[in-house]
Amino acid sequence: MSLSFRIEKTPGTARRGQLLTPHAEIETPVFMPVGTVASVKAVSQDILEDLGAQIILGNTYHLYLRPGVDTVRGLGGLHGFMSWNRAILTDSGGFQVFSLSELRKLNEEGVTFRSHLDGSSHFFSPESAMEAQIGLGADIIMAFDECTEYPADQSRVRESMELTARWAARSKKYFEEHKHKVPWARVGADAFVRPAERSSARGQLEGSTGQEQIHAAADSGLRPSGRTKASVPTQSLFGIVQGGMDRALRKESAERTIEIGFPGYAIGGLSVGEPRELTREIVESTLEHLPKDKPRYLMGVGTPEEIVEYSNLGVDMMDCVLPTRAARHGLLFTSEGKVSIKQARFAQDQGPLDPNCDCRVCRRYTRAYLRHLYASNEVLGQVLNSVHNLSFYLDTMRRVRHAISLGEESRFLSDIWSRSKS
Ligand SMILES: [Zn+2]
Repeated sequence: MSLSFRIEKTPGTARRGQLLTPHAEIETPVFMPVGTVASVKAVSQDILEDLGAQIILGNTYHLYLRPGVDTVRGLGGLHGFMSWNRAILTDSGGFQVFSLSELRKLNEEGVTFRSHLDGSSHFFSPESAMEAQIGLGADIIMAFDECTEYPADQSRVRESMELTARWAARSKKYFEEHKHKVPWARVGADAFVRPAERSSARGQLEGSTGQEQIHAAADSGLRPSGRTKASVPTQSLFGIVQGGMDRALRKESAERTIEIGFPGYAIGGLSVGEPRELTREIVESTLEHLPKDKPRYLMGVGTPEEIVEYSNLGVDMMDCVLPTRAARHGLLFTSEGKVSIKQARFAQDQGPLDPNCDCRVCRRYTRAYLRHLYASNEVLGQVLNSVHNLSFYLDTMRRVRHAISLGEESRFLSDIWSRSKS
């Protein structure tokens, strides 16, 4: 058992479910904080746990360049390396290769690129991207795809979509042949969890029954008598639907990806500069072609109102750097709309950042203090702002899940949405 997805409630298009991975049970729809280089910028792992983050993201491109896959693998994979015993998802590296690196050269085999760090030359193929992700050892890994640029003409989008489909088949083939090499495959996920964290983490998770079952399954993998290859959990590989802004190509991409067969499907290639209305249109039309019983992951999206909106459309997983990146620039998301904490009008403001937020920052500090930290360029300002923004996102998703459970999603969601808009 490497992944199971259970949908509990589907009022309208929204879905409330549980995604069981080797390291954690995840309540969906879920927002995944981005930990680019095995670090969610400015927020430590114990605070992420307190905030209720169930799964975080790592970027294969960055980790491959520094500290290197072999280093991470030798330290127990990402879970052991960064001391995070809940779930992790890594992207395939494709998006960063196309957006960050210079002098890339693409052919059927893969892509040659130069590191944005030191200019050194590297090659990623579906096979090497899988090898890297198996070494990093996340619970969920992604097929190697080409993120089509925007705008692009139809023939270019088709060519790119077809390449992604061929790469998806190669990704799956390599993964199936090598997935037993994940750093924790032989002993189960629990082996890299320190005992103290193991007990504290269980109590903090929402509905820990499934979590305990998974840990029990992993534990049984440690006993020689019960240890069979099939009983030991390993990673799961998700496919990615591309097809640019063309609905017909998106449909074809979805069909071809489903034909290859994955336990979950992502919608990639959005939020690449297109108008927001178009993003929504493509998401909505692509979702129609994805299997209802498999998790659906919308990559790289979005603002608080967007994560609510996409949950409402039936997306189960989302990730975005926005809460942490905006926080470092003094832009905070609150129940009363966006707040730019750098503004002089907050210099004497004794109130909390968000009167409706129960996070550790809003409980303790004033707007005046946060404004001062920002104006003084204090590291603590970045930390506190990031903690609040992530708390706001995770709390928003908690409310979304609650609203879906009650079967009253439209009223609750539009309420949350209108309050999160500024
Ligand atoms: Zn707060």
